Amino acid sequence: MKIALTDRHGRQISYLRLSVTDRCNLRCVYCVPPEGRQLFAHDEILRYEEMLRIVNILAVRGIHKIRITGGEPLVRKDLPCLVREIKKIPGIREVCLTTNGVLLADMTDDLKQAGIDRINISLDSLKSEVFHSITGMDRLPSVLSGIDSALKAGMSPVKINAVPMTGINNEEIESLAELSFQKNIHVRFIEEMPVGIGYSEKLPPLSSAAIRERLESRWGSLIPVFPSSLDGPARRFQIPGAKGEVGFISSMTRHFCGTCNRIRLTAVGEIRPCLLNDATVDIKKPMRNGADDSTVARLIERVLMRKGLAHEQIPLVSTQMVSIGG
Ligand code: SAM
Repeated sequence: MKIALTDRHGRQISYLRLSVTDRCNLRCVYCVPPEGRQLFAHDEILRYEEMLRIVNILAVRGIHKIRITGGEPLVRKDLPCLVREIKKIPGIREVCLTTNGVLLADMTDDLKQAGIDRINISLDSLKSEVFHSITGMDRLPSVLSGIDSALKAGMSPVKINAVPMTGINNEEIESLAELSFQKNIHVRFIEEMPVGIGYSEKLPPLSSAAIRERLESRWGSLIPVFPSSLDGPARRFQIPGAKGEVGFISSMTRHFCGTCNRIRLTAVGEIRPCLLNDATVDIKKPMRNGADDSTVARLIERVLMRKGLAHEQIPLVSTQMVSIGG
């Protein structure tokens, strides 16, 4: 019998964002502090068997969508094996991946064979020098090959996540949107969130409304796309004549907390109620000390009681996105 996971506001939780590592092969300015950060020791990171056990516990309780994230998930060894095993868990309908795309080209086929359902690729710039200034690395060609390989493997749509930042890549909003013209690519513009150190020193974040205005002044009114159950928080549109779509994830100006159906599992085994809420509960230690499944489930339910109706901690300076799993 399925027991639904419901939070204290009656929202049914059906979606887990699973961070498989705190390591990343990029150093994005909005994600990692300039002075670097302390990495967790390897034995602090959950093993795949532990992640699978948690997903099993959650699947019995109505979680049916898993998004694998990081850090950078593709730096974790044998990731396709994890995907394959999650796909076997009864009740799991969708396993998706969010990646920076750097290592994707060589892994797309294995991920496809393992049963990955969708891939989102983060890309903030199409110019090598800007890409380098945002990520600290010269890996734009690898990311572009990753996008191509995902399209060739028949992943459709391929979603591109871009964070426009004033004075950094805001000149590229139109060229990023143009990726949606010829192929089934959905370019989603994400509002920069105040996570991590250094946020307050930056220029004001760009709102979805401002980005939409820019696109409409170039191409005319965007055509709304009828929402589907797979949409998540993005509001979807098409530029007239485009094959793909553009979308807006307005985490800051039009938050979607009222319909939030997600929880997060960090790479070190904490259940987190929300990206912007540090009220986590550690389930790794109890599991390693022999807690049974119903005890673990009760700990997870405790986190749900801490899930707010709106963002609770802004700015969230105590943690970086790379450690939470964005
Ligand atoms: N490494 C993977 C990737 O690049 O997609 C997964 C982790 S990354 C933290 C997930 C997403 O969070 C990326 O699309 C990234 O752009 C986004 N992100 C990170 N910091 C952010 C911030 N402060 N505001 C908005 N989005 C952010």
